[in-house]
Amino acid sequence: MSALTPEAALEQAALAGIHCLRIPTPFAVGRVNCYLIEDEPLTLVDTGPNSGKALDELGAQLAAHGHSIDDLELLIITHQHIDHLGLAEIVVEHSGARVAAIGLAAERLANFSEDAEREDAFAVELMLRNGIPEDVTQALQSVSRSFRGWGSKVQVTQPLEDGQAIPFRDRTLQALHRPGHSPSDTVFWDEERRILIAADHLIAHISSNPLITRPLDGSARRPQALVTYIESMRKTREMPAEIVLSGHGEPITDHVALIDDRIAKHERRKEKIYRLIAERPRSGYEVAQAIWKNVAVTQAFLTLSEVIGHADLLVNEERVREVDDGEVIRYEATG
Ligand SMILES: [Zn+2]
Repeated sequence: MSALTPEAALEQAALAGIHCLRIPTPFAVGRVNCYLIEDEPLTLVDTGPNSGKALDELGAQLAAHGHSIDDLELLIITHQHIDHLGLAEIVVEHSGARVAAIGLAAERLANFSEDAEREDAFAVELMLRNGIPEDVTQALQSVSRSFRGWGSKVQVTQPLEDGQAIPFRDRTLQALHRPGHSPSDTVFWDEERRILIAADHLIAHISSNPLITRPLDGSARRPQALVTYIESMRKTREMPAEIVLSGHGEPITDHVALIDDRIAKHERRKEKIYRLIAERPRSGYEVAQAIWKNVAVTQAFLTLSEVIGHADLLVNEERVREVDDGEVIRYEATG
């Protein structure tokens, strides 16, 4: 059994040349963890959001390790969320660093603004179809637009395939696609040191939201984000990792226990949602309201993603079916 404390885990990672840089964000999640890998190429994993404050802190924290943004040779992007990649364009302008990310996401990352616009339209449509009132969807859309400035487009120069090895002088990192929290989530595995850089795929203090996002392959079908996320967690569970470095908060030193706990929680929530649907048919929004009472506007999409994710599990088990009256989708029990 690994008995490492989070502090000891960070120390062990630092001895392996992996340093956690905690970059501020304007979002409720708080700071984002980026990682400096002191190796050849000199590498940064994620950048933090696009703000002067984040840029200053990134520069200062790199300087504390004797480096500058200009020195970076490789930038690795873990997934498409703006708190992780907002400074990418600026970092590349300063450093000329190559950019590695899962190849499936390359087009999306290169067209950030257009993509964000399409993503919002997708979310609005999804919310309306699941019973969320129009004024709430409009409010959320303007919140989302106001966040966009913290993002960035980025040209992926080193598109990665699932399983591909990234060679360094002193190590190899294997890129593993672990979609769920977002469709582009990618983790980076140092098998020799048993260190996994997992970003938002696994976070110790919060359950990663399986956000419903447009599929990367351009298909029009709504993805089953939670189903996909649970599959991804099961894959990670089988890995002999000693240290899992997250995108937020402290490192994880017992990922198997954490994953088991998360899967058990999803199981309980699924049963709770089943009971609500068995009482009477409800839309996704009605289920969310029954669970969380007054859903704050900013949480409307998160909670809907959560409900739809669990309803997908129930639909796949054939315990629940979707009934579409042409306007709103409702879930009803099959039994
Ligand atoms: Zn994220």
